[in-house]
Amino acid sequence: MKGSSFLVASLSILLCAVGAQPATVALKGHRAGPATIFTGCVVNKMAALTFDDGPNIYEAGISDVLTAHGVRGTFFVNGDLYNCIYDKQIVKNLRHSFLAGHQIGSHTWAHLDLTTLNETQIHSEMSRTELALQKILGVTPAFMRPPFGSYNDLVRNVSGTRGQSLVIWNVDTRDWAGLTVAESEAIYQTAIDAKQDTILPLMHETFNTTAFELLPWAIKALKAAGYRFGTVAECVGQRPYQAFNLPRIRDRTWTC
Ligand SMILES: [Zn+2]
Repeated sequence: MKGSSFLVASLSILLCAVGAQPATVALKGHRAGPATIFTGCVVNKMAALTFDDGPNIYEAGISDVLTAHGVRGTFFVNGDLYNCIYDKQIVKNLRHSFLAGHQIGSHTWAHLDLTTLNETQIHSEMSRTELALQKILGVTPAFMRPPFGSYNDLVRNVSGTRGQSLVIWNVDTRDWAGLTVAESEAIYQTAIDAKQDTILPLMHETFNTTAFELLPWAIKALKAAGYRFGTVAECVGQRPYQAFNLPRIRDRTWTC
């Protein structure tokens, strides 16, 4: 209970720090129309580093590398991909990232291609992860990255109904495709050399090399090129979460 009390206190402080009210701030809900799709930042010379497919074992490490460089990043997490989001160590890592000021977005529950699903199934893939983040962190995410970057009109409409924006990317490091760190660095370098207005890269928190080699290199290279860093929410000028509340205490529903 001691740990839980500390977490609640820490989260309350964090919520005040970001100007949120401690009680639930429900969105007026249900935006009409399709979700907005962001493929880059709207703020020039900004870089928003993103990490998909967690929460995973390297998340705490990535969070600490970011923090050590004074950078805030964004994690798009699944409910049940490589790990169950409710596993005790995973919950601890996720809260660690959140409390460090990094943004947590949804990558849906099981990493399915949403364009193959019907409306009910799409809602389910989204709502299960949102519920998990409400329980674990007390927040309802305002951003969702569709698995594989795959979406259609139905996915956009369901996301819009759920008050979320879709986030794609404008630099694909292809760490997921087995590229070496040097090859992924070359992809970054091409974007930098092209003086790309904004950098919204796709990386994965599931690779040791991404966490501890590519990430520090990218921070250094982007800083040297004059980019400043922010979360996805900051880089598109919106709020990261639809609602804030206090996290809940673990109960029997915390299973995958
Ligand atoms: Zn993914």
